[in-house]
Amino acid sequence: MIFKNITIIDECFGERKNVCVGVKDGKIAHIGEYVTGYGEEFDGNGYLLVPAFCSAHSHNSMSLLRGVGTDLPLDKWLNEAIFPEEAKYKAGDYYNGALSSCAEMLKYGVVGCNDMYFCGDSLYRAYNEAGIKVNMSLCVFCFDPNGDFRSQPIYREYEDMFERLGDNNGRIRLDYAIHAEYTNTEKSMTEVAEMAIMHGTGIHVHVSETESEHKACIERHGVTPTGLLEKVGAFNVRLIGAHCVWCTDNDYEIFAKNGAFMASCPTSNLKLGSGIPDYQRALSDGVKVALGTDGVASNNNLNMLKEAKLMALLTKGYNRNPALCKVSDALSAATRTGWLSMGRQNSGLIKVGMDADLAVFDIASVNTKLARNAADTLLYSCDGEAYMTMCDGKVLYKNGEYTTIDIEKLKYGIGE
Ligand SMILES: [Zn+2]
Repeated sequence: MIFKNITIIDECFGERKNVCVGVKDGKIAHIGEYVTGYGEEFDGNGYLLVPAFCSAHSHNSMSLLRGVGTDLPLDKWLNEAIFPEEAKYKAGDYYNGALSSCAEMLKYGVVGCNDMYFCGDSLYRAYNEAGIKVNMSLCVFCFDPNGDFRSQPIYREYEDMFERLGDNNGRIRLDYAIHAEYTNTEKSMTEVAEMAIMHGTGIHVHVSETESEHKACIERHGVTPTGLLEKVGAFNVRLIGAHCVWCTDNDYEIFAKNGAFMASCPTSNLKLGSGIPDYQRALSDGVKVALGTDGVASNNNLNMLKEAKLMALLTKGYNRNPALCKVSDALSAATRTGWLSMGRQNSGLIKVGMDADLAVFDIASVNTKLARNAADTLLYSCDGEAYMTMCDGKVLYKNGEYTTIDIEKLKYGIGE
């Protein structure tokens, strides 16, 4: 396919007008003047081509829990509303929930996702079918101080999944997940870190989401959740710390010196009343800040543009400085940095040689037309719904239609 005379978000997350972008064999093969030999031609007039979004933190199967526990704080929301509902899940629910999230992500131009949940077999089926790029991480919980991770069923599940995924370098990959410090012991965290080093994977973990969780860890262990993760060796691999709302300067320094990623989920933090992350401090400390949606149950959408817009507005408002968190900072957090957090160097930029993971947005509708600056329009004026979404050069969503997901079947919850 060749996108003809289209405006693009370039490598610096600014706009570049009226260029032609050719896609061949799943890669971006050409950017510049019109050339022949690319097959299908897409008239780019009125459209904006952007690198596909990547949600650096999500729980996709939670799309079946939209609205559950609304208006509750995190501890009550989890223990009294979410955990009892999750306990009723069957394999088909994990599959349906994950596939439903895939459909929603494609609608919002999201092709990459760091998913943390359970029942890897059902999740794998959904992601394999949907055609998106996912780093799955299966949640490890351990409350017994002497408990051995290797004797848990999830240890076996990981080993089976590694066997299925081969070199673990494809469209669907596996990372380890420590659910959080407050749902694990120092021993189980150490064991998971050892396994991640052995398998060469990343570690995905909830970090300092609420003030009470952050303080309770200091009381229990004498260090912050980030300090404990450093102690158990979790920063020796690619680490994705979800939330990091209450991280200290010292915590951010630990992230920065280890090249670790913060996966911030502003809507979820606001809805659950967890707080507002200090993005400016994290960025100026050198932390790689990516964005995620978190699960639908605490968001209630998987709209990455909404997260990027919130990051920019919260940073400007919190610091009373409109010069902070520029359009390019927010857009790169929602795209390139998220892809890097999944160890996927070939995604998240419109550049020759990169994977053709792309989304097209309409910038000629009533709320976006006459845009003076396409990047600003994308961030602040678009409602988040993409016109077209592609992964590895394959169109997965276009003008409300899906090419890999049977949306009617999904609406009726027929999974198994
Ligand atoms: Zn989460």
